[in-house]
Amino acid sequence: MPARKLSVLIVGLDGATFDLILPWADQGYLPNLKRLIGDGARSCLESTIPPITPCAWSSLITGKNPGKHGLFDFIEPSQDGHGFRFTNASFRDGESLWACLSRHGRRVGVVNVPMTYPPEPVNGFLISGLDTPHEHSPFMHPVEVRQLLKDAGIRYRIDQQHLGNMRTNERRRRQLQDIFDGETARTAAFRHLSALRHCDFRMIVYGATDQVQHHFWHFMDENHDKYDAAGAREFQHAIRDTYQHVDVQLGQLLDECDENTVVIVMSDHGFGPMSNVRVRLNQVLRDAGLLKFVEPTARGKWKQAFASTADRLLRSTLSSDMKRTIAGLFPRLRVWFEGLDEAPIEWSTTHAHVNEAYRSSPAVWLTQRNGSFNGERMELREQVEDALLALMDPATGKRLISNCYRPAEIYHGPHTKKAPEILPSWWEDGFLLEQSRPGKNASPSVERSTSPLEGGVEFAASHRLDGVLIMHGGPVRSGLTFSDAKIVDVAPTVLYLLGLPVPEDMDGRVLTEAMDDEFVADNPIAIERLDDELEDDSACDNRHGFTDEESEMIARRLQALGYIQ
Ligand SMILES: [Zn+2]
Repeated sequence: MPARKLSVLIVGLDGATFDLILPWADQGYLPNLKRLIGDGARSCLESTIPPITPCAWSSLITGKNPGKHGLFDFIEPSQDGHGFRFTNASFRDGESLWACLSRHGRRVGVVNVPMTYPPEPVNGFLISGLDTPHEHSPFMHPVEVRQLLKDAGIRYRIDQQHLGNMRTNERRRRQLQDIFDGETARTAAFRHLSALRHCDFRMIVYGATDQVQHHFWHFMDENHDKYDAAGAREFQHAIRDTYQHVDVQLGQLLDECDENTVVIVMSDHGFGPMSNVRVRLNQVLRDAGLLKFVEPTARGKWKQAFASTADRLLRSTLSSDMKRTIAGLFPRLRVWFEGLDEAPIEWSTTHAHVNEAYRSSPAVWLTQRNGSFNGERMELREQVEDALLALMDPATGKRLISNCYRPAEIYHGPHTKKAPEILPSWWEDGFLLEQSRPGKNASPSVERSTSPLEGGVEFAASHRLDGVLIMHGGPVRSGLTFSDAKIVDVAPTVLYLLGLPVPEDMDGRVLTEAMDDEFVADNPIAIERLDDELEDDSACDNRHGFTDEESEMIARRLQALGYIQ
């Protein structure tokens, strides 16, 4: 079979895991996934380190390791190294899979892949994903797409309105319905745009699996440290319902596929429960003599106590819309209020710190100070690692953090030096980051939290390294289970299936073991040598940082998703 005849459809299920898919498929809840697994090939799909959405999807998009694409997180440090700014697709280096396909004259349709804002002018259509600031942002290419969807009566949405505010069952119910409705509209938009003209490559990502797993795992899992038996009566099956909902979406897309379509279902990382261990990493660094807090004045202490009480009250009583309205009416009040909640760091005497406002993927940065940085770097890193690796779980007496990863050991490429210096393995150990408070009566650096899970703010579950890969159709083998697939392998595999050469700077490999021998023999892998011109293009700096207003919108969305405090 010549590869030229094939087309490819990728359905991304953010955070999907075989731990849930396989039993539920067996029990008959996920008929479409079950069929694809039975008649196709599957493997775990190893994510990036850290296994987080922006980093992992960027490796899928480029076929490159994070050291080459340079997008490590939703945030990167600001110039002075003390604060941070939000990232988007324009911070990524390296040609995207859809830009490469467009360059070869192939038509593409891409919907809701995280870290694709601002949208690239592809040959086809592209609707940006999670890094889109607002529904009014120009996140659709070409611009006519917005009108096309409107004319078809499809109300495409990017936002989750209530996630950060799930204290009552009524709000949880509304949130689930909102998520399901959003994904239904996404499918409708994707199908509508696909039907207008044939695409050689199409891709859609559903975020529902990630969002619902983060916030509903403790209703499903009786062994969870914060298992909620009362809530389980209503929400025990919320995650299974979500998988069922995306399975139905998948079924609609499969109905429109012919025998020459290779379908790839994949996730950017896996998922698993978080424990009730809470760690205050800046306090740990302070105790190791590597960080100093500004000692709060009496007035400062009062302000912090007020801020934390007011914050809790506001979060639990106001909806996101109301908060947005208040922030719009009283911008100064908001700035003052948010400033109160920071644990101030004395930068001149601090060597290492963690950005604790951003709690979902704690990473340690060494602080750049007056030229002495380079000589001290290695020694400081060892001191930080010693401090982190010495932490013990107070309940079990076992080591809390199993590994500290260093960029030079896990990445290669020009952006390696931009990564955080130390990545503690939260995805292996299941702990959550808490905000440190300066002062003498601070909370312990490590504790087991005994309070009920704070709905919408605290994650019940989070990411794991093993995502899923299911391939089906065309030359893909039937009933095969294989291993060792990595997220960087998807882009080269897609190019190969479409009869195109793989650019030499991609780090992934073509997953030929999942395909018929005959097809592989008939279609040798071609490597595309890159000329200087193309490389020069990818090296130039085209960053479009967000405006203050857009940053605020992004902050609100990430806050609503529980990623930042
Ligand atoms: Zn994700």
